Amino acid sequence: MGNRTRSTLATALCLAFATTGCSDHEAEEAAAFSEAFDELEEGKADDNGCSGVLTPDRSGFNRKIALTFDDGPNTTSTPQVLDTLAAEGIKATFFINGNRVNDSTRPVLQRIIDEGHILANHSHQHKNLSQQSLSTVRDQVDRTHRIIEGLQTPKYFRFPYGASTCNTASVVRDEFEQIITGWNVDSGDWCYAPDNGHCPASRFRHVPDSFRSDMGAWTMQQVRSKGGGIVLFHDIHQFTADALPGIIDSMRAEGYSFTNLDDTSVFPLLNGETPPWVGHTCDGDDDCVFGGGHDGVCALPEGASTPFCTLECEGFCPDRGTETTFCVSLDGGDSGACVLQAKASNGNCDAYDHFVMEERERYIGNSSASASTARVCVPR
Ligand SMILES: [Zn+2]
Repeated sequence: MGNRTRSTLATALCLAFATTGCSDHEAEEAAAFSEAFDELEEGKADDNGCSGVLTPDRSGFNRKIALTFDDGPNTTSTPQVLDTLAAEGIKATFFINGNRVNDSTRPVLQRIIDEGHILANHSHQHKNLSQQSLSTVRDQVDRTHRIIEGLQTPKYFRFPYGASTCNTASVVRDEFEQIITGWNVDSGDWCYAPDNGHCPASRFRHVPDSFRSDMGAWTMQQVRSKGGGIVLFHDIHQFTADALPGIIDSMRAEGYSFTNLDDTSVFPLLNGETPPWVGHTCDGDDDCVFGGGHDGVCALPEGASTPFCTLECEGFCPDRGTETTFCVSLDGGDSGACVLQAKASNGNCDAYDHFVMEERERYIGNSSASASTARVCVPR
């Protein structure tokens, strides 16, 4: 997305707020988070890994949740969030802004470390880094990187508003060797907090009207649809700190439990692991344990030269991050098998010696799936 799109949106929102008083920051925040939400919901392919919003793990969370808190620390609501997490026995991640670190907040940082949470980088001043020069981006990442370095090994970075370009992503990933961390669920607390729990449509149109005054219900609806994942909060808001215990209760009541970003069984791709998946070569079913409730089989369909991991399917297949799949028949229409979709990220199947790209019809079986075709990787 271009810089112009974001600044134009910010200007439009600023005008919309003009009657109630508008700050550039408020408008920019609303525009940027709305755009991030579009990106998240469209779930559009991020073949180059340049998104600051989309996470490589997008499903298969097994009802596990990682809570993340951005924009702190401060000396009031951050400690209250820490109190809640301690009482609940939950470890979370705090994406801090370096310019908030001073003599009065330093003890709060120490508490984050001492209580077993992850301290992570959210840049120095919370600028929209997709609109800054690369030297500014470098400086903004570096200043907070050095603060964290003194306390914990820095590992995770989150772009303010999730706003990234391929160039800024490369600074974070290649120069600082940090993991770019988006989210799966936006609590919208940045929208609810300023009006004490009411999120107006003018600020965040994505929230359904029935949830405009119920941040907990809005958060839970998204948690259910994703099956867990990374949830975005901001510990600098008193409203968030006050609402947190109730939201944690709701999550537990619906069978969700808590983990942290470095849990490779829930977020393998985020952490650079590539567990077995559809299309990978295999010697037996043990090589095709996908996790997240989807375990594959090692199969050698007729005409294939190399066994590979697949799943029997009717209409639908599970996706994992950028490795999207499609249900086709490899036996002339008797049954369905999940195969990889051809993508830029797998060189249109060239990344696999045992596959070739073909356009195939979906195997529908007895499912409600609609007829469609896709370019997929089939055995050569
Ligand atoms: Zn932020």
